[in-house]
Amino acid sequence: MADSDTKIDDLKTLVRQFVDERAWQPFHSPKNLAMGIACEAAELMECFLWLDLPASHEAARDPAKRSAIADEMADVFCYLLNLSNVIGIDLSEALRAKLIKNALKYPAEKYKGKFEV
Ligand SMILES: [Mg+2]
Repeated sequence: MADSDTKIDDLKTLVRQFVDERAWQPFHSPKNLAMGIACEAAELMECFLWLDLPASHEAARDPAKRSAIADEMADVFCYLLNLSNVIGIDLSEALRAKLIKNALKYPAEKYKGKFEV
């Protein structure tokens, strides 16, 4: 199933089932899950370590590297969904609220084509 026909809540249920089947809840404190996100994000960054900008695009197109990148993105997402389950934050609401904050902080007319703050 692709993003276009998948609900975030269904993915949260898949992650909850995976955790429940292994009885891993005692290990999944908010602190451990937040640290897990950071560890997996570091593994994702390792996929691009030492590459210049064009080479990083090439890596994302290379089938073997693309597979490793997808795995690490999934690891980050899995931890994020798990943290959402544990502490009860609705990711859709949180993302929409944060995008509104970001739009106010970085108005498009002022920051279009610029990345500096
Ligand atoms: Mg990983």
